[in-house]
Amino acid sequence: MTTSAPLQTTALPTGSQEDGSIELRQVRKVYGDVTAVDDLDLTVRPGEFVTLLGPSGSGKTTTMMMVAGFEDLTSGMVLINGQPVDRLPPKDRNLGVVFQSYALFPHMSARENVEFALRMRKVRPAERRQRAEEALDRVGLAKMGDRRPRQLSGGQQQRVALARALVFNPSALLLDEPMAALDKRLREQMQEEIKTIQRSLGISVLFVTHDQDEAMSMSDRIVVMRDGKIVQQGAPEDVYAHPVTDWVANFLGDTNLLPCTVMERSDDVAVVDLGELGVGRVRDRGAVGERYAVSIRPEHMAFIPAVRAENSASGRVVSSTNLGATLRHRLRAGGQDLMVRELSAGPRAPRDLDADVCVGWEQDEAQLLVLDS
Ligand code: ADP
Ligand code: MG
Repeated sequence: MTTSAPLQTTALPTGSQEDGSIELRQVRKVYGDVTAVDDLDLTVRPGEFVTLLGPSGSGKTTTMMMVAGFEDLTSGMVLINGQPVDRLPPKDRNLGVVFQSYALFPHMSARENVEFALRMRKVRPAERRQRAEEALDRVGLAKMGDRRPRQLSGGQQQRVALARALVFNPSALLLDEPMAALDKRLREQMQEEIKTIQRSLGISVLFVTHDQDEAMSMSDRIVVMRDGKIVQQGAPEDVYAHPVTDWVANFLGDTNLLPCTVMERSDDVAVVDLGELGVGRVRDRGAVGERYAVSIRPEHMAFIPAVRAENSASGRVVSSTNLGATLRHRLRAGGQDLMVRELSAGPRAPRDLDADVCVGWEQDEAQLLVLDS
């Protein structure tokens, strides 16, 4: 990748004409009896990388299509650069778009595909060619301009699509699962390259993925979607460390969810009844007598010599696997399945199947979560 002269000057301050901001106000999309997007309020600030993360069918693509102008809104409004865009066709919204379904033209070379975006915008041929070359160079395809899409790998085709989205100096980028078709290593490489490009251009990005690792690694802010609604948003580490419900905790990585009832609470600590797993203590609020789930990430569960009065469990090893960098142990304890993850450094080895073990966790690593599964 080169980081030569940027295609676009850095983002302008908020309120100026092309700051790259995207704002959705009470945006709704109904298809028949399906509410695909349910009164969504969302802002992408200038230069920000915001990711919509949610399972299949949660309304991510529909949201992107409405921002891009390929779908009408049932109600609400979209503003780009602070201006309502409801009457603007897609090409006049000045957004660079890479959608999974937004394929390259097979009969055109990579360069012609990139130039096409400029031809639509009536840029003259000589300038078109030069800007297409620059855009291909930026995505690491400087020498591949003459190739047709079928002469390029999947990853290279996605780069051409990215070059096509960048070449006309868009205000912002919309990327809908752009790496979904790539294998893991290529996907990680593209993730880093997209971040590099985004930083060097200072461009705002609205990104879509259903892959939590991808969302964690790329985003300034993650917006978790479910059934057309936002269930939580925040910095990746905050959403991961402080999910608002058991559903979010489960969706953002592996976690142990232990059903519980709050027995008593003082200032900011709740004592919870974990049923067969005994008693837990959680630094969190909760209402006495109410049902919740205590969430403990597998990396925060540790083997201990014996059960303790609180925050521990005894059980039996169901499986124990060396995954290379980590060990993953599955346990059956008090009628529940638990997962423990350890770094495989040092003397640690897989445990014997059916071995009796005890695990414990620190109070501060446990979260009391509202049930919403
Ligand atoms: P995601 O991208 O998060 O997987 P989508 O936005 O594609 O979700 O879909 C959200 C919901 O809207 C789903 O229930 C889907 O079946 C429905 N949907 C999407 N597009 C259409 C359409 N053109 N006609 C009818 N229903 C649609
Ligand atoms: Mg989708």
